[in-house]
Amino acid sequence: MGASYESGAFVACKDVILAFDAADERLNTTLRCITHAHIDHAVKVNEPNTLMSPETYELLKALGRLKRSASILEFRKTMDVRSVKVTAVNAGHILGSCQYVIECDDNTLLFSGDVNVQDTLVTKAAEPMNVDFMVLEATYGDPSFVFPDRETTYSKIVKWICECLKSGSIPAFKAYLIGKSQEIIKLVNEYLGIPVVVSDAVAKVCEVYRKFGLDLSYFRKSTDAGKEVLRTGECVYVSNHRIDFPVGRRMMWAIATGWALRYRFGFYDAAFPLSGHADFRGLISHVEACAPRRVYTMHGYSKRLAKELEKRGFAATALESVGRVVPFIYEKRRV
Ligand SMILES: [Zn+2]
Repeated sequence: MGASYESGAFVACKDVILAFDAADERLNTTLRCITHAHIDHAVKVNEPNTLMSPETYELLKALGRLKRSASILEFRKTMDVRSVKVTAVNAGHILGSCQYVIECDDNTLLFSGDVNVQDTLVTKAAEPMNVDFMVLEATYGDPSFVFPDRETTYSKIVKWICECLKSGSIPAFKAYLIGKSQEIIKLVNEYLGIPVVVSDAVAKVCEVYRKFGLDLSYFRKSTDAGKEVLRTGECVYVSNHRIDFPVGRRMMWAIATGWALRYRFGFYDAAFPLSGHADFRGLISHVEACAPRRVYTMHGYSKRLAKELEKRGFAATALESVGRVVPFIYEKRRV
């Protein structure tokens, strides 16, 4: 078994080559494993031999990005790919986001994809798996990224919404289409009980979340009911684009992203550090829970995270720094 990085990553196990969120065509791929529906990960989804969770399948279909069928693997289910076993495990990042466990000979590898190790209002925390090797995302892999407690961020968002409404403005959120939008809608549903109006694109994604059992209450902006709620002004607006439109009241815009810890987002009226990714402490805790023999880090602060893991006694390497194939499976097991 070996792994390589360029766009996404590859894992080679004997004659089986698995691609993970990879746009790269240079390797003769046996199976393309899609970790989740975000656009930078769900690449080449219309190629043959593509594997994804049922939720990811429905999200990509709803957004018109998947034009053909794909192999489906539910969480905790295993698929045989010749002599290799592939198991999907919840990654906690968005609806249907997968980690994949690969079993080849006596070795196991966990490919994390984007991962969140905390429960949110719309997702359950990623499941740790005891494995030999781990490929871990490092989006917030620098020690400076420590997010506030999620409940604290939720309460700050609620407070800001109340202040906007009190001042006669409509609070509006620019949020990622998949994941963050639904979390904000759920937050308003649960904590405030005032109507939420959403862009048509956000509504399409919400319908998939609802199909998989998440109770979300909202009005679609383009409907008569949505227009009427906006006219009253007593509502929250959620969209994946920041577009002002005439509603008779000022719109105040907030953004919710982990990058709000580092950047001011002065173009917005407010910015909240609400992320679908694990922060630095979460990434470290995920490695500790999985207890692998070696970790390969990728994306974002991959080199820094590898260094920090080494300080804590883990063998760790930034995947992009070790060339296209890493012969890690041949390392001798500790006894
Ligand atoms: Zn993502």
